Amino acid sequence: MCGIIGYTGEKYAPEILIQGLKKLEYRGYDSAGIAVSKNGKTLICKNRGKVSALEQKSADTDLSGTVCGIGHTRWATHGEPSDINSHPHRGGENVTLVHNGIIENYLELKKELKAKGYNPISQTDTEIAAMLIDSMYNGDPIKAIFDSISKIHGSFALGIMFRDYPNTIYAVRRDSPLIIGVGENENFIASDIPAILPYTKKYYLSDENEVAVVTKSDIRFFTNDGKEIHKDLMTAAWDEQSAQKSGYKHFMLKEIYEQPKVIGDTINAYKNKAELFENCSFDFNIKGKIHIAACGSAMHAALLGKHVIEKLARIPVSVEIASEFRYNDPILDKDDIVIAISQSGETADTLAAVRLAKSKGIRTLGIVNVWGSTLSREADDIIYTYAGPEICVATTKAYLCQTVILDMLALKLGRAVMGEDEYLKQVNLLSSLPEYISNALKLDSTCKRLAEKNIAAEHQFYIGRGQDFCVCTEASLKLKEVSYVHSESYAAGELKHGTISLIVDGTPVIAVMTERSRIAKTISNIKEVVSRGASVICVTYDDVDVSDFCKNKITIDAPSEFLAPVIANIPLQLYAYHIADGRGNDVDKPRNLAKSVTVE
Ligand code: GLU
Repeated sequence: MCGIIGYTGEKYAPEILIQGLKKLEYRGYDSAGIAVSKNGKTLICKNRGKVSALEQKSADTDLSGTVCGIGHTRWATHGEPSDINSHPHRGGENVTLVHNGIIENYLELKKELKAKGYNPISQTDTEIAAMLIDSMYNGDPIKAIFDSISKIHGSFALGIMFRDYPNTIYAVRRDSPLIIGVGENENFIASDIPAILPYTKKYYLSDENEVAVVTKSDIRFFTNDGKEIHKDLMTAAWDEQSAQKSGYKHFMLKEIYEQPKVIGDTINAYKNKAELFENCSFDFNIKGKIHIAACGSAMHAALLGKHVIEKLARIPVSVEIASEFRYNDPILDKDDIVIAISQSGETADTLAAVRLAKSKGIRTLGIVNVWGSTLSREADDIIYTYAGPEICVATTKAYLCQTVILDMLALKLGRAVMGEDEYLKQVNLLSSLPEYISNALKLDSTCKRLAEKNIAAEHQFYIGRGQDFCVCTEASLKLKEVSYVHSESYAAGELKHGTISLIVDGTPVIAVMTERSRIAKTISNIKEVVSRGASVICVTYDDVDVSDFCKNKITIDAPSEFLAPVIANIPLQLYAYHIADGRGNDVDKPRNLAKSVTVE
């Protein structure tokens, strides 16, 4: 949600800021802007729309010779996307800033600032933060920032410039991510690592409520008692190439095709011959229940996690939508654990679930893709997914890695229950997953053909039972996110309890059948929709004969029934991608969505 970049060095700042914003555009893209210091002034160039529009506008503005600035790509929370509401915002004479997050008490602060003579021109909460800092400023930027944030309720990552210190960027955060990139004769601030990768892999993590003071030759961190803090320098594990499109039309397609590798990496990180998660400090002896808190696709991974953990380990698992869990006064027993799943590790609601659990003394385990993210620092234990940087807003590879981690967790927890022979068999089969995924990617042209056939349909249904229903929830979300086609996922037996009324002649229904014991039941449900005119696509094994009622079969092959959902996902991702692309959508940056949802 919202991308922040800042640069101070010797190079032409607008170019670096705009290239950085392009790398961060997946975080928000309804408007973009930059501010740079020039001749004792801070110049702002910003507009509604994408970074490409800003690039044009800044090329038409004289920003020559500027070597320090801040930039922002917005996902609006307060005030519609407009030129005026775009960041950076000015707060009086001295302060210009960019902001990620929400200032919850901005109306109250606005009243106070108006009484002091400030006149906000935008509808944003951000402009109020800028004015507040300006009102507190008396020549000492660090003091002004600390005095201001002590009055602010809510979440923020702020990149701030003071007119009096033209080549210095000040940064501070609370509940929103921010890193400080370390270059040679140049330094950066950024919301996420891909923005700095063309220049450096070295960075510091900015901790909550401390101020970073960044010049081209120096980075210093202070706490509010004026103490300077020394931090460990981190090195990004990702390289620049991993955040490039590499010839693919879209990041989404590239990321789908990366899955054999990233699934292999994820398995190898936690599998040593027959042992799983040996290198994790987490105590896998769970005496109570498991609660999995997550949002969006991560929550769909959790549904599959529940299915496999309960089946293999017979431990009760509840899946909690993180935004509900935090306000539900959940029943948590001291022996329970809370697993939080988030690609970015910055998902506000998921973090709140972890904090709630910790406040009640409950153990927490994070499953997260981004090293050094807030979740990775706050959960008691962490399991990383090795998906690498995911740029497309709609997740594919990170989701799939989450499901594989949960499969592995189910095996680990279920070892005694399932028996050693079955355990060893399934653990050995894990290693073959990448090859099966590669084979499933060969279904691309079949998926494209079926997508073309259904391109005009405005409603589509996904049905399945058991583990296949879990697959359907994610497949349906993927279609909705990127293609804007309305879709529902249904437990196949549930459809006739209402929603079957929406099936009319030609409605596409995708039926997933990998759980063998339930296939006959799902086939009965397919026949119910076929009788009402549905046009069915079946995703199932070669030996399942559907020729009687389905002309469009997607044949998959999986190492085992247990691992089949991982494979079934692949053609469904490709199908959603081709529908979105065929409809001419901006596949990587779908309407209204943003990756890394740092607000509740
Ligand atoms: N709340 C701010 C706004 O609406 C910042 C949103 C963001 O994080 O992009 O402008």
